[in-house]
Amino acid sequence: MPGELSPYNPRVRLLATEQAAVTTAQPGAAGTATLLSQTSLSPSISRFRFRVDKPASWKPGQYVVFDFSDELGMGYSHMRDDDPQSLNDDLVRTFTVSSSPPSADSEPAATEFEITVRKVGRVTEYLFKRDGKKKGLEVPVSGFGGEFVMDASEAEKEKKVYIAGGVGITPFLAMVGSKLEKNVRLFWTVREADLGLVADALEKIEGLGAALRLFVTGARAEGELGGNVDKKSVFGRIVEEGGQVWERRIGREDLVAEKAEGTKWMLCAGKPLRSKVLEWLAGETVTFEDFDY
Ligand SMILES: Cc1cc2nc3c(=O)[nH]c(=O)nc-3n(C[C@H](O)[C@H](O)[C@H](O)COP(=O)(O)OP(=O)(O)OC[C@H]3O[C@@H](n4cnc5c(N)ncnc54)[C@H](O)[C@@H]3O)c2cc1C
Repeated sequence: MPGELSPYNPRVRLLATEQAAVTTAQPGAAGTATLLSQTSLSPSISRFRFRVDKPASWKPGQYVVFDFSDELGMGYSHMRDDDPQSLNDDLVRTFTVSSSPPSADSEPAATEFEITVRKVGRVTEYLFKRDGKKKGLEVPVSGFGGEFVMDASEAEKEKKVYIAGGVGITPFLAMVGSKLEKNVRLFWTVREADLGLVADALEKIEGLGAALRLFVTGARAEGELGGNVDKKSVFGRIVEEGGQVWERRIGREDLVAEKAEGTKWMLCAGKPLRSKVLEWLAGETVTFEDFDY
């Protein structure tokens, strides 16, 4: 029987030649970000807006790398029995930029950007502490990067199908901006408790309702709140605008029905959904983002 892994097991540290340039950049190489605001979207998801003191440059779908070691680092220790996972943690964290960059090169470079974050661990819990003192929080930015972008040759494809699991919607939020093109279909799976994230996206993105195929799991009793929003009104709005909602998991048939010549598939989801979708769409070219920690 396999034994339990030691809590002191460090994360795998890649050689400099094995990792993307941005993660090896010096903390603060892309400036210092100051937290301006936090908007709660669901009990465990918030949007954070930052201002950077250097011009920020990213493509829709790319991520920002923060270094929280100044803020949360505890210095060197050999063992730490009360919190063994904090050992060997470099406190460098990656989040997709969920806001769009300026639309034309002629516009001034961005000095503000947003991330949309689920609270899961040490750094995100720290970000979520809303005691008023976290406004003004300053974090060094190592850089922006990532390959999950729509390249120019594919932007013109006749049909685009985006598949997002929960907070995996973030790169698509940046790609879509404030208006969804007519040739896009978005398959999105969310927990009912996160419906506030869906309601917010419907408010901000014109045409989203019509393009949306929403799969809601963890459903509660009729009329109950999904986070801070009424699920009936969210579902009603989507259906009214021409979209579809199911209270079940997404399945193979949902996606296979979308197969068509010249479709651009993009996927951003955690490991379990990602591997299922890639299996269902075997034979198709699916561009996917790896959200694993
Ligand atoms: C390219 C990319 C883009 C991303 N974009 C986003 C985004 O837009 N929004 C978003 O919310 N997240 C995003 N993530 C995920 C985010 O970076 C992680 O969730 C991050 O680790 C959170 O930091 P944390 O300190 O709060 O949690 P961590 O302390 O890093 O823990 C994260 C999770 O891993 C578990 N965990 C940690 N260490 C171990 C271990 N040793 N063994 C087993 N489990 C462990 C924790 O219990 C927790 O569930 C992205 C990740 C990548 C790689």
